[in-house]
Amino acid sequence: MTFIFDNSYARDLPGFYVDWRASAAPAPRLLRLNRGLAEELGLDPDLLAREGAGIFSGNALPEGAHPLAQAYAGHQFGGFSPQLGDGRALLIGEVTDRNGRRRDIQLKGSGRTPFSRGADGKAALGPVLREYLIGEAMHALGIPTTRALAAVTTGETILRQEGELPGAVLTRVAASHIRVGTFQFFAARGDEAKVRQLTAYAIARHYPELAAAPEQPLAFFEAVVEAQAALVARWMLVGFIHGVMNTDNMAISGETIDYGPCAFMEAYDPATVYSSIDLQGRYAYGNQPLVLGWNLARLAEALLPLLDPDPQRAVTKATEVLETVGARYRRHWLAGMRAKLGLAGEEPGDGTLAEDLLAAMQAQGADWTLTFRRLSDAVADAGMLRPLFRDASALDAWLPRWRARLAPDAAERMAAANPLYIPRNHKVEQALAAALAGDMGPFDTLLEVLADPFTERPGLEAHALPAPADFGSRYRTFCGT
Ligand code: AMP
Ligand code: MG
Repeated sequence: MTFIFDNSYARDLPGFYVDWRASAAPAPRLLRLNRGLAEELGLDPDLLAREGAGIFSGNALPEGAHPLAQAYAGHQFGGFSPQLGDGRALLIGEVTDRNGRRRDIQLKGSGRTPFSRGADGKAALGPVLREYLIGEAMHALGIPTTRALAAVTTGETILRQEGELPGAVLTRVAASHIRVGTFQFFAARGDEAKVRQLTAYAIARHYPELAAAPEQPLAFFEAVVEAQAALVARWMLVGFIHGVMNTDNMAISGETIDYGPCAFMEAYDPATVYSSIDLQGRYAYGNQPLVLGWNLARLAEALLPLLDPDPQRAVTKATEVLETVGARYRRHWLAGMRAKLGLAGEEPGDGTLAEDLLAAMQAQGADWTLTFRRLSDAVADAGMLRPLFRDASALDAWLPRWRARLAPDAAERMAAANPLYIPRNHKVEQALAAALAGDMGPFDTLLEVLADPFTERPGLEAHALPAPADFGSRYRTFCGT
């Protein structure tokens, strides 16, 4: 017995998915297994190491699995697609982990489904390893995220813009794969009963504390607003750019989901965009908090009929909650900033203090991650910090204001709030290029570095550095679809 499945989505939500099977992988090979996560899920890593190629490619269906493709819709770059759904993914089932939490096990890249819309249903090795790496890095940073359980190569060659690429399947683990777009799918069809059913399911699964709430759908909406506001604040604090914040890529659980052209910002600039398909910069770093609100308004629209029988009152209720998005986001961001800056207590000027540092960083091209990390050294001496700024005069004017606000044990607390190692774009690309050439060494090293992002270790100096200047300015990420 490998998995002890309890498939609530399949059981409770008929009509929300299509039963489906993975396409056969001609020569599956288990490339990487996340043994720590396997153990957390109550699985036997040794057994999975032996049988993983079959299971994680979709060739072998473990006992108790119920593979299905979930239906969802979504606003993609502002335009509504009423039918997206799992076009290349299959939920194979749910398990309860060692902490009693229900987790989805999903294969991504396992072949065409009824939702594939003309695409091949496959995933290429590069993007699979990218999602593996960045998801694990986010987890180590303490940010809610789906995680990678395994990566297999299928033995198949798939065709992408770049040419022929090795096919792969990522097995990922999520609190659930319910998205804003899942609600939109049924709302767009006028199926209020299913929106209601999905809401009840999502409450039971993700927000059980709302079971006794007087206005459950409204309380649910508010809980999702809070979870997603907290999440986006966490992204902003580490310089993470999701890259495709479409409503189908926003999880109701508040986890980060669907790592595509995401990347970490280096020099601080709110306009930073890496995704090659984001031509207008809709999902630029600095736009993410606004997109958060926009996406939540789409969720509100889907929930409207549940909020009040009177349409006008329903809109009023939704609007009241939507108007709190900015303040909620700001509260999470500011709390995180206080920790990053090592401030004592809370003072009204803290937001301005943070923003003034950001202004100096932006004007002087300072690296986001290193500036905050070196700030903890600057409690005593700004010698390591100043060279990160082209011109340090604004920084020098700011430092005394900041020092006057420091908590007694600031340096120590700041080191725990400011990572030194993030997935630097050039390091990620190096690791993926080596993996494609058959050398998993750099991938494994990077994974290990990123598993402990807050502890400075000798020998890892290169992992803390920004990309060489020419790399950074040209860097573009791809969806890989
Ligand atoms: P994504 O941009 O990866 O979040 O995907 C958006 C939509 O496109 C989802 O419905 C995916 O299932 C679908 N999709 C992405 N890549 C593929 C592919 N290679 N084959 C089929 N469907 C895909
Ligand atoms: Mg997606």
